[in-house]
Amino acid sequence: MSAPLSPGSTIGIIGGGQLGRMLAMAGARLGYRIVVLEPQADCPAAQVANRQIIAAYDDPAALDELARACDVVTYEFENVPVVAAQHLAKSVPVYPPARALEVSQDRLAEKTFLNGIGIQTAAFRPVENDQDLAAGLAAFGGSGILKTCRMGYDGKGQLVFRNMTTGGFDGTCASLGNVPLILESFVAFEREMSVIAARGTNGSISVYDPAENVHRDGILHTSTVPAAISEQTAAAARQAAHKILSALDYVGVIGIEFFVLADGSLLANEMAPRVHNSGHWTEAACVISQFEQHMRAVAGLPLGDANRHSDCLMQNLIGDDVDQVPALLSKPDVAVHLYGKAEARPGRKMGHFTRIAGRN
Ligand code: AMP
Repeated sequence: MSAPLSPGSTIGIIGGGQLGRMLAMAGARLGYRIVVLEPQADCPAAQVANRQIIAAYDDPAALDELARACDVVTYEFENVPVVAAQHLAKSVPVYPPARALEVSQDRLAEKTFLNGIGIQTAAFRPVENDQDLAAGLAAFGGSGILKTCRMGYDGKGQLVFRNMTTGGFDGTCASLGNVPLILESFVAFEREMSVIAARGTNGSISVYDPAENVHRDGILHTSTVPAAISEQTAAAARQAAHKILSALDYVGVIGIEFFVLADGSLLANEMAPRVHNSGHWTEAACVISQFEQHMRAVAGLPLGDANRHSDCLMQNLIGDDVDQVPALLSKPDVAVHLYGKAEARPGRKMGHFTRIAGRN
């Protein structure tokens, strides 16, 4: 294990959205300087960072410049090109490791990895053509979700099939762009939840309490702690987080999403090798937020206490929801966090608020 980064050192962040912004703010609090690599000028993260390199994420000259400017590099989104992370890693530590990107960028690789370390997922099959789709749906009793293996998020690139007993799938794969696809069996879950966990450079692991998540139109709407789950279900989620972090020799924060079945058992849905929207509640309800936890991990500092001192609801402010901010600001126990985005387009995450309750 290398020595912790001393204050005044520089941490690079690939990606300039709201997650990068919140990481930059947490890093600044620990005394670090922040450089953001992001093609969009004046992005949310650059507004609160020391410097922005305005270039594509895979621009070799920009990556070299980032490596020269930084003592360690991290990222705020999972579609950072693996080759970019590998290129950078030749000259500067990059956390989380490139292997975590490889696994989480492809739903087939992800589910195969999870099953391989004993974590259950929905049944799945690769789909390359309409015949594969028909055969897969027949095997799954006529219902399933067809997803693009790569670049899908917030429910984009997905088709739901319910009780399809006959054919009629001609052209489906073409409509999704003839890219590699995965068919998952349809999970009749009781609720959705996630855990945010972290692993330090010394291998220590810290896991936040599971949050219960509600999605609207495929986008996270609320995360609530505590989740309405049994202690056994919470323990199973923690155990899964430990397995994943250890298997990947991970450093940093990870978000892992699960389906909770009626009997309390879990199926992992997906994991994101970064801080996660369903962990924003940690900022209000824990002494150390997921953002500080991530910056501590990548800087080689000791991990912070993940205990929760309050119950909490986090709600995203999407598009026009941001108009609620003046009213929210007058409510007790509510904190508003805005991302510095100029224009409130439909579906765009503009900010979030947390409301703490029932201090523990
Ligand atoms: P994803 O992009 O995989 O996170 O999926 C977005 C949302 O679609 C999830 O949060 C679930 O609400 C739903 N979903 C995804 N996969 C399945 C599945 N296999 N069965 C039932 N619902 C699913």
